[in-house]
Amino acid sequence: MNTIEARICRILDDHASELAAFANDIYAHAELGYTEHRTAQRVADWLEHLCGLHPETGLAVTGVRAQVGTARPAVCLIGELDGIRCPEHPLAVPETGMSHACGHHMQLAALAGAALALSDPEIAAELGGSAVFFAVPCEEHVPMNRMAQLQQDGVADYCGGKPQLLMDRAFDGIDVAVTTHAHMVHCDSDFLLGSNSTSGFLSKLIRIKGRASHTAISPEKGINALDVVTLARSAIGMLRSTFRDEDCIRIGEVVRMRSTAVNVVPDEVIVDLQVRAKTWDALLETDKKIDRAYRGAAYAFGADVEITDGMGYLPTVPCLPCEALTQAASLLADADGNTFESVSPLVHNAASTDVGDLSHRMPVVNFTFSGFSGTLHGADFRITNEKAAYVQPAKLAALTIYRLLRDNAAQARALTDRFQPTMTAEQYRAYAARFDSGFVGEPSPF
Ligand SMILES: [Zn+2]
Ligand SMILES: [Zn+2]
Repeated sequence: MNTIEARICRILDDHASELAAFANDIYAHAELGYTEHRTAQRVADWLEHLCGLHPETGLAVTGVRAQVGTARPAVCLIGELDGIRCPEHPLAVPETGMSHACGHHMQLAALAGAALALSDPEIAAELGGSAVFFAVPCEEHVPMNRMAQLQQDGVADYCGGKPQLLMDRAFDGIDVAVTTHAHMVHCDSDFLLGSNSTSGFLSKLIRIKGRASHTAISPEKGINALDVVTLARSAIGMLRSTFRDEDCIRIGEVVRMRSTAVNVVPDEVIVDLQVRAKTWDALLETDKKIDRAYRGAAYAFGADVEITDGMGYLPTVPCLPCEALTQAASLLADADGNTFESVSPLVHNAASTDVGDLSHRMPVVNFTFSGFSGTLHGADFRITNEKAAYVQPAKLAALTIYRLLRDNAAQARALTDRFQPTMTAEQYRAYAARFDSGFVGEPSPF
């Protein structure tokens, strides 16, 4: 560890209690995606008052961005602002049920700590590019009903913060993204370096319209929308035998209907559905099967069906750790005894993240970290070790960015030179634009 690296670690050790207080305050005040105003204000205050930076605010509603230096390449550390609804979590906000059971407050500690260290004048002078700190809104996907409302109100057009920021060109001028999260797959080490593949998904809103009638007096005049759903779900159940194991296909559904008398044939049912798969091709193929199942079932009963596709997230392009990240983790292993391992290309994460969208456009340097117990999104999620959860991820992020940007940013340049985007900016815009007016233009009737 050289003197600059030792200084990074010292600054973070010296500010461990401030970082924990910052993170715990956010932990106890979780906010829904695109409404993270309080959280964004805390981040902006930290960047301004403790780091002496000049944060831009209000990016994609609540995003906050500040930077050390203006030169290229620009390496951007990302922290996610939003919580997840989990009313059973002990720190959930009573009025909203919002919690930080996905640990995004831990990422904000990493961002705040890394900004504090890298904005130190002695350290900043060693960076051969700029270090950008970007707290981004709404990683948790916005369901289609809420998205329709957000579009109508002119708040946001896209179902996740990173797609919105990509479409707003807020990542233009960023050359490398550094992302981090609480461990998302099982890992016994303090750090897991690199990106696993994650599944992509599409949202669907399926509206079945039948005909109400008295179930005893005139059942022959009714068209039972719930029976259509039952038949379609049976077909999808049988279609599962055509899914290939390696495609990791998952289908999640919620069925909603108007509360009605038991002796009235249900005339309208809405199904919210998410279909996930490891590859985009498998996703589209499965999506067609789902459409056929619902259209076929509606035909059998003479019901009407409207299927609206909504944006989800793209599969994450998997990536082994870069040299700078591995070197930084080795330094922390020597200095603080932290353990680390690299992602296995054999492990696939069947969940989804909007980092997937970013991974098609720029090199993503990712690591996940420990310091918690319980399940992500679960009521049992707990911080068990504040140093591991808040301080060490900040050190790893800062050391990695320093390694990427030192020596005239040689390692950052090597990453950008090697990177082959799987989608051009135009291709991404065309993909996202398909969903611009795809949402149902009215709030749900129930
Ligand atoms: Zn989450
Ligand atoms: Zn998360």
